[in-house]
Amino acid sequence: MRYISTRGQAPALNFEDVLLAGLASDGGLYVPENLPRFTQEEIASWAGLPYHELAFRVMRPFVTGSIPDADFKKILEETYSVFAHGSVAPLRQLNGNEWVLELFHGPTLAFKDFALQLLGRLLDYVLAKRNERVVIMGATSGDTGSAAIEGCKACDNVDIFILHPHNRVSEVQRRQMTTILGENIHNIAVEGNFDDCQEMVKDSFADQSFLKGTRLVAVNSINWARIMAQTVYYFHAALQLGGPARSIAFSVPTGNFGDIFAGYLARNMGLPISQLIVATNRNDILHRFMSGNQYVKGGLHPTLSPSMDIMVSSNFERLLFDLHGRNGAAVAELMSTFKQGGGFSVDEDRWIEARKLFDSLAVDDAQTCETIADVLAECGELLDPHTAIGVRAARECRRSLATPMVILGTAHPVKFPEAVEKAGVGQAPALPPHLADLFEREERCTVLANDLKTVQGFVTQHGNRGKPL
Ligand SMILES: *Cc1c(COP(=O)(O)O)cnc(C)c1O
Repeated sequence: MRYISTRGQAPALNFEDVLLAGLASDGGLYVPENLPRFTQEEIASWAGLPYHELAFRVMRPFVTGSIPDADFKKILEETYSVFAHGSVAPLRQLNGNEWVLELFHGPTLAFKDFALQLLGRLLDYVLAKRNERVVIMGATSGDTGSAAIEGCKACDNVDIFILHPHNRVSEVQRRQMTTILGENIHNIAVEGNFDDCQEMVKDSFADQSFLKGTRLVAVNSINWARIMAQTVYYFHAALQLGGPARSIAFSVPTGNFGDIFAGYLARNMGLPISQLIVATNRNDILHRFMSGNQYVKGGLHPTLSPSMDIMVSSNFERLLFDLHGRNGAAVAELMSTFKQGGGFSVDEDRWIEARKLFDSLAVDDAQTCETIADVLAECGELLDPHTAIGVRAARECRRSLATPMVILGTAHPVKFPEAVEKAGVGQAPALPPHLADLFEREERCTVLANDLKTVQGFVTQHGNRGKPL
């Protein structure tokens, strides 16, 4: 499989190189040159497979030429064995023909584990083969950091540095990062805000000389392997609900357009998905595009669903590429307009094409709390605020009651106690058994000044399993 850039100017890469690449050299994002397409018979024959075997069949075309089948199978079996539920991604019914796909049974209780548990193992496999070591740097306001650290903790060939804003992440989220101990794991609390952290990571990618030749790898959702891993659970859900003989609709709480883009890919790979609902919080750039063909940057609004607090949705560029007939020059032009502070609209017929599949809704904090309370009263399920946004959007945007509606349950409610409290439904549930002693565990974290040279100096000093690079 070959991968090309959404801006059309970077060299095509194979899977292995795309895994290590991050952004393409032209500023674009990598996508497969040709998407695999499965027949209905083929998809139907996967019914009843364990999750890791389904994952093998769905993802195999993406890695062919880079990872032999037997190795890939083994990696997938290991990856999904760490999930705490036998089904890996169980479906739970809420209401008539309405289901939550529980994607929070991984080590850090959010869906990001599906991709980052795999990414860590894939990186280690490829790096061992190449006899190479890399440094990962990432900024987090919560979920990504812990999932990335959990995914990489056992990697022999990776040192990971995760920056979070000092005193500005919740205690559960901080402890989920800082209590994972290992000589290759480095938590940095920056005396600044999340944007400062992200800016430092960006600057570090732009000039990597402080790494003395060691490669820097990205673990945010621009990494193709993350998107690829997320396509699998769309197949998994559909197969439980009568697919592919019958169409399924999905509602996806989204920020960076990563998770929902995976659903769009699953559909283009042959899965009959009749509707995809973009569910956002007040940070609604995607809703403004889907409802009014305006892709314009707004201000950042902190909400009760912080994992979707974004101003720009990086993976949206991957959809734009398809909407423009895979014309990289057209995408580059739009993104350049956007970067210069303008927003943009796409041609009317392209927008109408997108709207055949996508609907959207923006849900504010009050509505989020109301939905948490409603669903608890109706069916005894306590939702996390992100999932609640998905449920709200599903109910308002649903096109057909006859089509099963699946809401992606992106996090366990215990991660976001503030929303549960505000919803007035009492205390959040207890931590699950594997995290029950989280508040007693030893923490390891370094507080550093909000200064690029200081942070980079720390990475240089500790980038080789705690020793200098
Ligand atoms: C990351 C995250 C999201 C948003 O996912 P995107 O891929 O950015 O759309 C939603 N919910 C939770 C709990 C998350 O951690």
